[in-house]
Amino acid sequence: MEIFDLREFDGHELVAFGQDAASGLRAIIAIHSTTRGPAAGGCRMWPYATTTEALADVLRLSRGMSYKSALAGLPFGGGKAVIIGDSRKAKTPELFEAFGRLVDSLGGRYITAEDVGTTTADMASVARATRYVAGLNSAPGRAGGDPGPKTALGVFLGLKAAVKFRLGRGDLEGVSVAVQGVGGVGYHLCGLLAGEGARLAVADLRPAALERVCQELEARAVPVEELLGLDVDVLAPCALGGVLNAHSIPRLRARVVAGAANNQFVDGQDGASLHAAGILYAPDYVINAGGLISVTREYQGDATEAQVIAEIEAIPARLTEIFERSRRENRPPGAIADQMARERLGLQPRKLVA
Ligand code: NAD
Repeated sequence: MEIFDLREFDGHELVAFGQDAASGLRAIIAIHSTTRGPAAGGCRMWPYATTTEALADVLRLSRGMSYKSALAGLPFGGGKAVIIGDSRKAKTPELFEAFGRLVDSLGGRYITAEDVGTTTADMASVARATRYVAGLNSAPGRAGGDPGPKTALGVFLGLKAAVKFRLGRGDLEGVSVAVQGVGGVGYHLCGLLAGEGARLAVADLRPAALERVCQELEARAVPVEELLGLDVDVLAPCALGGVLNAHSIPRLRARVVAGAANNQFVDGQDGASLHAAGILYAPDYVINAGGLISVTREYQGDATEAQVIAEIEAIPARLTEIFERSRRENRPPGAIADQMARERLGLQPRKLVA
């Protein structure tokens, strides 16, 4: 495999492979850019079938973090880590401490936090080995803690901006939203949506996660394979990436796609297909920046929770600017966002929708 020639490599500054035999750690850390500051991005734990799959994922996620930081105006770059393993079976404090040592060996060029498959408790184990970690429990009123609810808040506000732009609706009363994945972010998003009267359809691979939402809120559980084709106003992908592709886009009946999942497209053509179908897409790394805002402000050590929320409240205006430019230029919102991010990073234009 020629790593430098991979489509996902895209000028990464550094890729580190780490192993610890005692704890069973196998991890990859990718640093896409430190142009704007140290590379920030979460640590995903996932049972990748091959190292190649893990590498492609970490590279795509890491580039997305550079774009996310840049568009959120944060003084950080983009990076990401993956631990190869099943988070339901293979987690130990020792594994995360070993991961912490790997992070520490990079001397602060990469700052980690939780992502899919990792939690605040795991980051506490990481913190025993390095100070380059955030997403830790914090004192009341201070920035910090699980970034999931903060991501959900940004997605909620961004979804409202997309609904306003596409459907001309200033509220969510009776607006139908299909939420794919009701884990850390999707669960909190459903609570916010239900609080404003949205009608919810939800799907998740984990029956327990689905049950929790349906018991607590008025939400209709839908089989996983049916969710994407539902006749709803909004689709909110909050599971894994790659959900918008040549197979799924022709099936979509939603008029807006606004969700938390990173890397929702499979390739650069998918954003154009969605745009051609008249479906408004809220670029993933713009709408889901709430968690990154929270962990980076926590890492800097001087922010209150209120300041974090105020920064998250700027997400809808940023999205609306992108939507307006997309309409003016008749180009997909993802392409506009990519261009804006690459300009801020001092990178050459590139024909892709991350
Ligand atoms: P999570 O693991 O807590 O939840 C994801 C949920 O999706 C799980 O309950 C899982 O069972 C479900 N799922 C997986 N595949 C599915 C499918 N095909 N259909 C339906 N459900 C499915 O993860 P999370 O922290 O909620 O993150 C969700 C997404 O948002 C991820 O793509 C993540 O990268 C992205 N994101 C998260 C944050 C954050 O702060 N947690 C920040 C930015 C982006």
